[in-house]
This record gives sequence, C-alpha cells and structure tokens, in this order.
Amino acid sequence: MHVSQNTLALIGNTPLVRLKGPSDETGCDIFAKCEFANPGASVKDRAALYIVNDAEERGLLAPGGTIVEGTAGNTGIGLALVANAKGYRTIIVMPETQSREKMDTLRALGAELVLVPAAPYSNPGHFVHTSRRIAEETPNAIWANQFDNIANRKAHICGTAEEIWEQMDGRIDGFTCAAGTGGTLAGVGMGLKAKDEKVTIALSDPHGAALYEYYACGELRSEGSSVAEGIGQGRITGNLEGAPIDTQFRISDEEGMVWVRRLLKEEGLCLGLSSGINVAGAVRLARALGPGKRVATILCDTGFRYLSTLYNDEWLAAKGLSAPAA
Ligand code: PMP
Repeated sequence: MHVSQNTLALIGNTPLVRLKGPSDETGCDIFAKCEFANPGASVKDRAALYIVNDAEERGLLAPGGTIVEGTAGNTGIGLALVANAKGYRTIIVMPETQSREKMDTLRALGAELVLVPAAPYSNPGHFVHTSRRIAEETPNAIWANQFDNIANRKAHICGTAEEIWEQMDGRIDGFTCAAGTGGTLAGVGMGLKAKDEKVTIALSDPHGAALYEYYACGELRSEGSSVAEGIGQGRITGNLEGAPIDTQFRISDEEGMVWVRRLLKEEGLCLGLSSGINVAGAVRLARALGPGKRVATILCDTGFRYLSTLYNDEWLAAKGLSAPAA
C-alpha cells in the first residue's frame, strides 16, 4: 500500500474522471481533473507549493519567515496549508466579495486575513497591490505574487499536464479551462503542446474578463460581469505570456450553472462555478472538434466552499441567477 510521508506529498496526482453527461451530449469523451481532491480542496495547492519551494530554493524564505499574498481565497488556503506544514506565517489579502467559507477556512488555518473592498486593478487599494505593500513592510516576508511569478505555471507544466497526458495514455485532442492568474491554462497548454503540438488549447472566459477579446482580436476588452470566484482576468499576466491559445469561448454564468447543477444531480460532483464554466467550455470545444474526440478540463475546487452562495437559492435570486428547477 502506498503511504504519503507528509501533507505536501498529497498535493497533485489527482484523479481524472470521465464526465458522463457532457460526453453523452457531445459524442466525445470529456475528462476532468479532480483538483478538489487536493488537501486544500482546490487547484491552487499546486501553485502554492511550487511558489514556496521556489522561494526557498532562491534563498528568499527562511525558517520563521512570512508569506504574503493577494488572492480570491484558494491560493491563500493553499499557501496557508503549505506554510503550516513548513513552519511559516501567512498574511492573506482578499476582496471582501469572496465566499464566507473561504474566509472561515483561512482563519481556521491560522492565516492573518486582511479584507479589502473589491476595486479595479488600477486602484492602489486592489488586493494585489495591498498584498505587495504589506510584504514590503513586513520583515522576513516574501510576496508570493501568483499572477506574475511563473513558478505558478511551472506547477502545471511539470505536474498537471504530465498527469493528464499519462492518465489519457497520450490520446488527447483538446484542453480548455478559464483563467484567473492563467497559471493552469498556460502551464497545461505548454505542457501538452510539448507532448503533441496538435492538441487544441482553448480559453473558456467568463463574462467581465478581457482575455476572450484579446485572443480573438488582440484587444483587452471586457463586457458584462460574472459571480464566478477565482477567474476573470483583465490583463496578460506573467503566467499568460506566451500561452499557446488556439481558440476561445465566452461562457456566461447561466451556462456554467447548468453544468454545476447537472454534475451535482447526475454525477454527484459538488463543484464551484469555475468548474461549471470549464465543463461548459469543454462541451463547446468537443462540439467544435467533432464526435469521437477526447477533451480534458479542470474541476477547480469543491462546491462545499460555496454552500452560502451557489447552493443557496436566496443568494442566487439576489444575483439574478435562477434557482434550480425542483
Ligand atoms: N477556479 C478557482 C475557484 C480559482 O480559485 C482559481 C484561481 N484563482 C482558478 C479557477 C483559476 O486558476 P489559475 O489561477 O491557475 O488561472
């Protein structure tokens, strides 16, 4: 029997599941990487581990040091668990619009939580800029800087992409996911293209993000909005630079919610909205590639993180999203 020697060894090597509904609907095989199975219950554990290991290797982080980061929550949870396992302190800056569950999880892990109002990136009070300032002012601290630190996408080039390739026996026609930092999309895209450049890499962008327009016509422009947490980017981050994107889809919250509900009811998977948007994107990519193709995507985090939001009818109604039909 295989036994992991510590918590950090539990990060990555997640299962891949064939999604029945999306596969039946498209005549393709749609597979999803179960990133909710990481110890922090999201894909961001991978980036957190690579960022901390990289800072240690560079001599930037030493025992007793502090890790500071601005995050929608999941990277903070990943960093806090890695920090606890290695003996560091964490300070996490997060927009106050994110789910209660993520805040409570961070507090339970012992992270110092700094909540800031949601603001555009151009505003100095934006959570990313606030976290950089706190890191600069804190002795023995590093700023994880997940958006521009390419240790993030390296976790997906060396980990996620390799795993998908092996789990699918090297037979894969397309991959798609949404972008927050872009680490997953760029890293998996680069890793898979290095194995087989014919694999189609697609961006699935929520409304309110600027990347769809950028990859479609070279201009960063956004329209509409989304309640999806952790995705929706307005600039080409360091991690997105050179990402091999072949095609792009714009996915509405309603379209993502259809899959969030269907995956729960039909397959017993309780997921966040970015996972629903990714599956909606995988269905679109499968249709574009044609019957018989093999497509992969990411199930980014657990829905238990959104019981007070996505799985709460009053919250859905307040956001103008319809509650599920009984
Ligand atoms: N989904 C969720 C729920 C997330 O928290 C994140 C990370 N911000 C993503 C998707 C996107 O991952 P990435 O940062 O690698 O683009």
